[in-house]
Parts: sequence; C-alpha cells; structure tokens
Amino acid sequence: MRVLVTGGAGYVGSVAVEELVRAGEEVLVFDNLSFGHREAVHPVAEFVYGELADAQAIDGVVANYKPDVIMHFAARSLVGESVSKPFLYLRDNVNCGSNLFESAVAHGVDRIILSSTANLFGEPDRIPISEDEPIRPGSPYGESKYTLERSLQWLERMFGVRYACLRYFNASGASPERGEDHDPETHLIPLVLQVALGRRDHITIFGDDYATVDGTCVRDYIHVTDLARAHIAAMRALDHGSRTYNLGNGRGFSVREVIETAREVTGHPIPAIVGPRRAGDPAVLVASSDKIHREQGWQPEFADLRDIIETAWHWHSTHPHGYRE
Ligand code: UDP
Repeated sequence: MRVLVTGGAGYVGSVAVEELVRAGEEVLVFDNLSFGHREAVHPVAEFVYGELADAQAIDGVVANYKPDVIMHFAARSLVGESVSKPFLYLRDNVNCGSNLFESAVAHGVDRIILSSTANLFGEPDRIPISEDEPIRPGSPYGESKYTLERSLQWLERMFGVRYACLRYFNASGASPERGEDHDPETHLIPLVLQVALGRRDHITIFGDDYATVDGTCVRDYIHVTDLARAHIAAMRALDHGSRTYNLGNGRGFSVREVIETAREVTGHPIPAIVGPRRAGDPAVLVASSDKIHREQGWQPEFADLRDIIETAWHWHSTHPHGYRE
C-alpha cells in the first residue's frame, strides 16, 4: 500500500514510518520540519518538505502520490502551550487537518488514520479510561484533536471515508534508531534522562500532594514502537470499517516511580526537587486498551516501565544531543 504520513519526521510519526517500511509498505513523508528532524525519516521513505497550512502544497502531494491511506501525525501537541495560546491550536491544528482531509476527499483517498490524544479525557470519571468515557477535552489541544475526530465522522457519513482515531496516552521509549528529541523538551522521561546525561542539574517534580500512591501524578507510558504497531493494526482493520481506540499499556506509573526506575537503569543519582503542581495536570490518567486488544489482538510488547526507560536511555546515550550531531 502507498501511505502518506504527515509529521513523519516527528517522534511518533518517524517510528510509525519505520514500522511501515518494515511491513513492506511504500511511504511518503510530508513534514515542515518545525518539530521533526530530517534525519529521523527512514531512508527508504520518500520525503517532501511542505506546510499543511498551504492547502495547494498538500493538495498537489495527495494528487500526485495517490496514497491508499493517510496517517496524520503532524500537529502542535503541547498541552501547556495550548492553554496559553489557544488559537494557535484551535486554528492551526484544525486548519491543517482540514486542508489534508479536503484533499483526501477531492482525490478519492478513503482511509485516514488520525493521531488523537488522552487529553480528550480532561477529567475522567473512571480509570482505566475506555473509549466510551465522556469526552471533556482538558485543553485547547485536546479540543483541536476532538474537532478532527468529529470531522472524520462527517467524512464517513458524506463521502464514505473509513477512519481510525488513535488516542495516545504518554508516548515514550525509543526504537534503536529513532527517539524523542523536542526543543524545548517538556516530557518527563527525556527530561529525567537529560539529568543522567549531565545536561540538567535536577528534575522538578510537579507536585507531590495528589491523591495517588506516593502523591505524584500517575500516567500510562506507552512505548512508541507499540504505538506504531497499533497504527498498522488499525490500518489493516479499516477493511472492516472505522474505529476508535485508546492506546496505553493499561498500567500507571507515578512520577517518582519513573525517576526511581531511571536511577536504576542509568546508575545516576538523578536529583529531584519537588515544585508546585503544573496547571491542568489530572492526578491519574491510565488507558484501557481492552478494545484494540479484543478486536485486533494488539497488546504492548514493552509494558514494563523498565523496558521503556531502557530503550529511551539507549537512544539518548547514543544521541546525547538528539538528531543534531
Ligand atoms: N512532570 C514532572 N516534571 C517535569 C515534567 C513532567 O513532574 O519536569 C510530570 C507531569 O506533571 C505529569 C507527568 O510528569 O504528571 C508526565 O508529564 P509529561 O509532560 O511527560 O506528559 P503529559 O502527561 O503531560 O502528557
């Protein structure tokens, strides 16, 4: 199959491309390299530099490449930034996605896979969070993804497009060649590993007075390769209709557990300081991935926090300055 991957130079997108290539699919990556890295794109994949905000640019690529499937990863994805700059998210993520979807429809592409987010569940009633949990986006970022999910439902009704919405919990870990390289970095595991690499003095724990096992927030860390494989499972399943899945490993780990495991893996003391809570952080976010397990037989291969941190540590210690060297 021919797969057009937007954001295929980014963290999750680049590992999805790696898995698509491994599965024998033909891949074209469309990316503006604003957050991604050219070096992250698998050498076998075709690369086109371009802006999704430029409707003509993406329309030309869809028209020429004639993909069978589109995987849409490209987006702004910082929850905190979206709270301080809501229109950047409500406008740009929705506008870019709409340009892409409009081109898909115009050129008869009827299969779309969307990167969505656990941030759809800002205040979950039940943990673990299943697909029928009420949607209450926790931020403008979550709202922008929800708008795109809803758009796909309309595309199905009006044009027969089949879609998969994949709601990621905390993407983490690395493949041997591809890892997490954001600037600025805001995510817990890479920040903790930067301390172990001597690039930071300490990690700040954002609050230790939550109603959790040790007072720190609990999150569901899912390995990026497991996420990538879920995209391939979802792509194959589109033959039988549209679907929406929550993707996590079903187990929660606290911030302190992450830091302690990173100490064991790296052998570095990783000093930690407790700071104030970060605005908008719910105490616990853990996914139920029962649905994709039941329907597609998917389950995480790297369900252990130690395995996840070991793969991330391998990548960060072999790429101490990310893709920049
Ligand atoms: N966190 C922290 N210190 C940091 C970065 C993150 O304590 O320097 C916490 C954050 O409050 C959250 C968890 O680590 O509870 C995971 O945060 P991350 O930003 O990695 O992902 P999120 O859950 O926000 O998507």
